[in-house]
Amino acid sequence: MTEVDGRGQDAVFPEIPAFPEPIHVGRPNIARPEEFLELVAGALDRHWLSNGGPLVSEFERRVAELLGVRHCVAIVNGTIALEIAITALGLSGEVIVPSWTFVATVHALQRHSITPVFADIDPDTHALDPASVRSKITARTSGIIPVHLWGRVAPVDELAEIADEHNLTLLYDAAHAFGVGQGARMVGSFGDAEVLSFHATKFFNTIEGGAIVTNEDEVAERARLLRNFGFAGEDNVISVGTNGKMHEISAAMGLSNLDGLDELVATNRQNYETYIRLVEGLPGLQILPVGNGDRRNYQYVVMLVDDDCPVSRDTLLAGLRRNNILARRYFWPGVHRMEPYRSLQPEAGASLPATEKVSEQVIVLPTGTSVSPDDIHTIVSVLASTISPDE
Ligand SMILES: *Cc1c(COP(=O)(O)O)cnc(C)c1O
Repeated sequence: MTEVDGRGQDAVFPEIPAFPEPIHVGRPNIARPEEFLELVAGALDRHWLSNGGPLVSEFERRVAELLGVRHCVAIVNGTIALEIAITALGLSGEVIVPSWTFVATVHALQRHSITPVFADIDPDTHALDPASVRSKITARTSGIIPVHLWGRVAPVDELAEIADEHNLTLLYDAAHAFGVGQGARMVGSFGDAEVLSFHATKFFNTIEGGAIVTNEDEVAERARLLRNFGFAGEDNVISVGTNGKMHEISAAMGLSNLDGLDELVATNRQNYETYIRLVEGLPGLQILPVGNGDRRNYQYVVMLVDDDCPVSRDTLLAGLRRNNILARRYFWPGVHRMEPYRSLQPEAGASLPATEKVSEQVIVLPTGTSVSPDDIHTIVSVLASTISPDE
């Protein structure tokens, strides 16, 4: 099959895919299936499935300990955790966010009638650019929600400085950065609070799940009230709230995966290093470095397709997909180009040149425990033959 791609090149695709079955980005890692089933059996024996059960309490204690933070408030998913944190921190008016993130970061604001104000990223790190953040501050700005995108730690010192200077609340979206550390400090204790996601597609999962982690007692207290309808005790509702509770089966998956956390990271690391080694020889392609620091989770393999690659990003993606390699264009085309933001803020792109450029370059490749080094050799040879069909 031959098609002409966006750069006027002939793109040749095979009749028989390299993988008979699809190989996905974000296939769930299940580190300890037997331990998970044992924990679930215990919950069934106790007839205790939700509402502050012992597995959720143990999970919160262990996450807080691992991250070196005073409070972990486990939540049903990362998006509701963001919404609860936004309310618990009293954000209002305008909040500065990247457009280069998963859409949930921005939806969480919009759903609380807070105006998301998009700031640009540093094209080398994909993190919020502090200079762009500064340029977006107005009298209505109440906070900043930076994202530790791809598990790379955001420029926490510069962002803390900006927040201090302008008296802004700093809430981190740490959905990609569980188990990541900057020097001696783990992600989880930066800013006023941080939000984690343990969705099944994240490298560490509780099926669906998330958490708010913070060192501030009052923020944790408010988050606990908000996740449980505002109940301060039986029959005693003292504020408005929602239902954001994590349940025991999720906590069972979380506890069993925590026991295998180091292995999950080691597998991802090996996969990442294999990709780096093999992609290095291909023209116009590079793997985004995971960044400095001693603790990384290597959960995303982000490949950048430069202008000097002989074929376009979307041709490469199509070549992968024809071979049952379901790579992704996360987070194309950028949240500011999605509804309702595209209609509400049609001019936003003008101040987001790096976001617009990077969003055309990224392909996220499959990794995790269901992807082997042999699979990666095959994936990279599909990339090579999509670039140079004759070789
Ligand atoms: C996954 C993700 C979320 C949302 O988490 P869910 O648990 O899926 O609701 C928020 N922000 C980012 C950056 C994410 O990748």
